[in-house]
Amino acid sequence: TEACLTAIDAAGALNAFVHHTPEVALERAVAADARLAKGDAPAMCGLPIGIKDLFCTKGVPSQAGSRILEGFLPEYESTVSQNLADAGAVMLGKLNMDEFAMGSSNETSTYGNAVNPWRRGNDDAQLTPGGSSGGSAAAVAADLCLAATGTDTGGSIRQPAAFTGTVGIKPTYGRCSRWGIVAFASSLDQAGPMTKSVRDAAIMLEAMCGHDPKDSTSADLPVPNFEAALSGDINGKKIGIPKEYRMDGMPDEIETLWQDGIAMMKDAGAEIVDISLPHTKYALPAYYVIAPAEASSNLARYDGVRYGHRAKLDQGDGITEMYEKTRAEGFGDEVKRRVMIGTYVLSAGFYDAYYNRARRVRTLIKRDFEQVFAQGIDAILTPATPSAAFGLGEMTDADPVAMYLNDVFTVTVNLAGLPGIAVPAGLDKQGLPLGLQLIGQPWAEADLLCAAHVLE
Ligand code: GLN
Repeated sequence: TEACLTAIDAAGALNAFVHHTPEVALERAVAADARLAKGDAPAMCGLPIGIKDLFCTKGVPSQAGSRILEGFLPEYESTVSQNLADAGAVMLGKLNMDEFAMGSSNETSTYGNAVNPWRRGNDDAQLTPGGSSGGSAAAVAADLCLAATGTDTGGSIRQPAAFTGTVGIKPTYGRCSRWGIVAFASSLDQAGPMTKSVRDAAIMLEAMCGHDPKDSTSADLPVPNFEAALSGDINGKKIGIPKEYRMDGMPDEIETLWQDGIAMMKDAGAEIVDISLPHTKYALPAYYVIAPAEASSNLARYDGVRYGHRAKLDQGDGITEMYEKTRAEGFGDEVKRRVMIGTYVLSAGFYDAYYNRARRVRTLIKRDFEQVFAQGIDAILTPATPSAAFGLGEMTDADPVAMYLNDVFTVTVNLAGLPGIAVPAGLDKQGLPLGLQLIGQPWAEADLLCAAHVLE
């Protein structure tokens, strides 16, 4: 814990940790020491970790990367961070992220972006660690903590993991409790671990997840021993390769990475099967209707009355001016864009044309996966992202849709509620990490981790 705290102080330029809690960390580390001495050491006893700023942590600032939650000190602890504390993990502090987890580069954060510790060859230009869990990815990659929590609504664990050479798993929807995690799009949000290895991900996921009566969508299922599943044996498993993920204009190195991954699976005894997920091309547009719709509803609670920031009012201002000024000042541009899109697609005149249609598309995407799993496919292998980490500022000047395109390989998994893992699988020509994604059957995280372990 002390070594991590020193590393965090030395790595201020990465802007990964946004709230430091060294006193809490040292206190918990001492308590962990005492448990170790007594021979009563739970799975993560004494392991220093970072927590994404989206998780409510009791008495510790939890701003979801937003100005509107300035000064908010939760009175309670999220179930996931509590589970980790119960497993002995030591929280070092809160990690940077895109505002309300909306973004793919960490650049929408009120704290300013986190920075990827990787560089392109000898080029000094700073790169994005990805988003929205950019601080988590940067912190793990730069050894500021042993692991971190992330959340993934449309790729926010897997894309930053791919951009930083770390491992990130988004579990099946319902595996981790969402209680105490600031809501973005409630039907898509899931928490998961971001770690240095698949083994670490297995250990941490087991500590994080489990049934929670406080979240009505939390699954009442036993938690498997994920670490025990890492046998390295995928002999006879059927790995699907979806032709729709072979996008036009995909860089050669992504194609090569994918082929290398296929070869590794084959060498380990898996059977490679060409599959089709025909509705893939509608996933991104459906996601960018459903996620903003849910966000516009979830973010209605930030009104200057209940949480955090409230705008200074002028003489004669009423409650409406208070709402308007608070939300105008408190939310950044991307969040405002999503709230506007969301309220538009949910409005009486457009609900059927956009929101209901997107929900129907979502069902078709889910069925695509159900059909291939019914054919006996155990897991699906795809690239995690369409490129390696891009430069900070490179995408922000472009059309917002260019940024949204980054999520093309990851959003289908959230729409279908499936588990997905990103594993570092090689470097591009400039020496930047690239990730592969494995998508699994519902609740089959153990199999997924086992297959991902083969790719490491
Ligand atoms: N980049 C996606 C978005 O901006 C995904 C975000 C996430 O998974 N939280 O919505």
